Amino acid sequence: MANFETPELSQWPAVPKIKPGAMSHMAPHVAKPEIQEALGYPGELVDNWERVAIDKLGELKGKYRSLQVFMDACVSCGACTDKCHYFLGSADPKNMPAARQDLMRSVYRRYYTLAGKWFPKLVGARDMTKEVLDDWYSYFFQCSQCRRCAVFCPFGIDTADIGMAAREIMDTVGRGQKYSNEVVGKVFQFGNNLGLPGRAIADAMESLEEDVEEETGQKIRIPVDEKGAEVLLVVPSADFFAEPHVDGLIGYAKVFHQAGIRWTFSTHASEGGNFGMFIGSYENMQRVSIRIREAALDLGVRRIVFGECGHAWRVAYSFLNTLAGPFDFLDPDYPVPQHICEVTYDLMKRGVLKFDKSKNDHMIVTFHDSCNPARAARMGDLPGGQFTIPREIIKATCNHFVEMPPDTIRDATFCCGAGGGILTDELMELRVKGAMPRMQALKDVVDTDGVTHMVSICAICKSQFSKILPYFKFNARMNLGLHQLVSNAIILENCD
Ligand code: SF4
Ligand code: SF4
Repeated sequence: MANFETPELSQWPAVPKIKPGAMSHMAPHVAKPEIQEALGYPGELVDNWERVAIDKLGELKGKYRSLQVFMDACVSCGACTDKCHYFLGSADPKNMPAARQDLMRSVYRRYYTLAGKWFPKLVGARDMTKEVLDDWYSYFFQCSQCRRCAVFCPFGIDTADIGMAAREIMDTVGRGQKYSNEVVGKVFQFGNNLGLPGRAIADAMESLEEDVEEETGQKIRIPVDEKGAEVLLVVPSADFFAEPHVDGLIGYAKVFHQAGIRWTFSTHASEGGNFGMFIGSYENMQRVSIRIREAALDLGVRRIVFGECGHAWRVAYSFLNTLAGPFDFLDPDYPVPQHICEVTYDLMKRGVLKFDKSKNDHMIVTFHDSCNPARAARMGDLPGGQFTIPREIIKATCNHFVEMPPDTIRDATFCCGAGGGILTDELMELRVKGAMPRMQALKDVVDTDGVTHMVSICAICKSQFSKILPYFKFNARMNLGLHQLVSNAIILENCD
């Protein structure tokens, strides 16, 4: 199947014996000039790229004070050493979070600290060279920006933020990642990451409506570009077609149908994902977000709801109002934005939705907390809502629920292995190795409790699991979205 070894799943996670350079061959494809230029970056490495990179680093540390603090604050305590799934799965010491940070810190010290200017060797300072740039390109794209290391760092140093800055610097000098930058360009051109034309989405939703009617006997609408709807639903574009994502989309439609809420998709903003965040680009993240505002205004909706997509929710929850607000034209009685899980949970609590849990009796499920909702956003009014709300929905729709080991869930969750711009085929070895800690925790509950399915609320997690579960001898079909459980169990009364 592949030109690398899938890591063994031992009984319990162990810190691997380090293998220097084990992943030095791993780097994503470089973006072609036309991909770079569509995003406003140079097509190829500019002549004086070293100076441009150093100046950009100076600009970013001035603009984002956290970056300056992260550069200065590390005391090499080692608490983060064994917290990264890519280190645990690959044993490459450059995948230890502090070592990854040091790729930038060493350059920062050289140009922006007195000690580094005068005594570079003494303080581990390095010139910005082609070798350093290649190291950055390799190892900053071996970080899924999951923030697990930041949870364990006594100073909260966030490697994800450092990696985003590094990617922004690399784009600025003309070395961008093909996968992420191409995806952002597709959103500008088509409105979504997959490059789906609006007509194709509308046709697909029409035929999905027919399928659902055949299955349920009810006319459950899946509207596209419907003016005057109450809710604009923004989902990851994978939800429109791919399995198991589309089964969750049917669940969203059933929720709105049963609650009598008029809703719509938009072909102008047919993407919840925002890869602008992966490349650390405020401008590109804003351009993607503004499409959602434009669609909301054009369709005259009163609420914006996001579907199951981890990083989309991180961008929406943390930045949407800053990037594309104010949203003073929306209904002030609802938060801007809302997550579909918040909508379902609220309707469930108010008795609007009822479930027949026995419809999911063929499954024993566990829940994978996706990194971005878990560590970079929240849900509902109470702290930890991002953990309790999905679990409450699972328990309401399913009789058999089992947690994975406590140090692998909630804010200590392990990344699926493909977030942050890693979900691309040329990084499959990294994806498989990085998935090892999650797979180990899954094996634990499969062996002990007979778990048959793993639920998540993120399109990237679902896509990654579909591909990598078989590497670990699990069935790819054990992977499903939360609203698929909802879809199976919801009791539909005829609301026509
Ligand atoms: S943010 Fe996640 S992927 Fe990146 S270094 Fe930290 S633990 Fe590893
Ligand atoms: S836990 Fe924080 S302070 Fe300690 S080595 Fe890691 S990044 Fe540095």
